[in-house]
Amino acid sequence: MPRRAALCVALFVTSVLPLFARDYAARPTVQKVGEGVYLFTSSRHGDVGFVGNSVAILSEEGVLVFDAGCVPSDSATVLAELRKLTDKPVRYLVNSHWHWDHWQGNQTYKAAFPGLQIISQENTRILMRDVSVPRTQNDLKQLPPYIASLEKDLAAKRAAHASEAELRDLEQLLQADKNFLAQKQSVQFTYPNFTFAESAAIWLGGREIRLIHAQAITSGDIYLYLPKEKILVTGDILVRPIPFAVGGTFPADWIATLQKLIALNPEVVVPGHGESEGARQALEQNLRLFQRVVQEVRNAKVQGLNEAQTVEAIGKKEAELAAMIGITEAQLLPAFKPYFLDVFLHRAYQELDHSLSDLPPAAL
Ligand SMILES: [Zn+2]
Repeated sequence: MPRRAALCVALFVTSVLPLFARDYAARPTVQKVGEGVYLFTSSRHGDVGFVGNSVAILSEEGVLVFDAGCVPSDSATVLAELRKLTDKPVRYLVNSHWHWDHWQGNQTYKAAFPGLQIISQENTRILMRDVSVPRTQNDLKQLPPYIASLEKDLAAKRAAHASEAELRDLEQLLQADKNFLAQKQSVQFTYPNFTFAESAAIWLGGREIRLIHAQAITSGDIYLYLPKEKILVTGDILVRPIPFAVGGTFPADWIATLQKLIALNPEVVVPGHGESEGARQALEQNLRLFQRVVQEVRNAKVQGLNEAQTVEAIGKKEAELAAMIGITEAQLLPAFKPYFLDVFLHRAYQELDHSLSDLPPAAL
């Protein structure tokens, strides 16, 4: 793993996806995924934030937005794009779960639409307050020294007459990271004002929008389903190209959730991160991978291996397991263990002994 990526894992383990591309200034995108349904991707935020998806459902009666991005500039960008598509107000904002990259842009919508309903599952609101906020405050302490280390790095490279391209790359990264820090410092924690336990339905402009609770990556996950249009928005129950298990993970329930999602037979699937194209197949690939890993953990325990031995033994099969979801590139493989396999193995082993706690352990 490159030094910088390794550092990121250490510093921002709940906040950073690996460097899938070195395009630190990746621009936001807008894509129509159904009639009146749009997918927005956020910018990359250097190597300290990540590209995520928001979905807007438009109607004559107003708009519902699913997930609000990492920082206020993410939601501001989506709102600016939305304004090109409709002049109707955003009436509902749904936060799929408590991870900071799905709700810390909430304030933009609240400021623009004071009557806004911000919706989450009831556990999520508690976890935002008790886990996400302290972790964000901790990230805010760790970001400045990390940025300072990049500045030192850049100065050293300039002194050593590094290539133009290398210098430009690092300058771009540094600027993106600085922008991200400024954005993160501007976050006003804006909590949901409507929560539910198991499911909710919203009728908006004649369209039925279902919000359904699942316990997959967190105890308060929500996915959104449009039954008539068969459009499924998964939040981080599905993350592509690598499932993201850090910051929670309930293996047995996650498997059951994937089975439920597949049984819906959706025509369009939008993941929490990554492309919609091919996402239906990714649900099935993830299901097979998760089932295989859980089975291997069971076998290991029957053979008398303890948790650490199990993680080590099955961890050696990382390349074979990653290939089950199409991860074969040398560039992506190093991220498979820290972002998925290690956490999933620990949690799968623990789950054989006792039900998993609602709050993720600090180390996860
Ligand atoms: Zn996420």
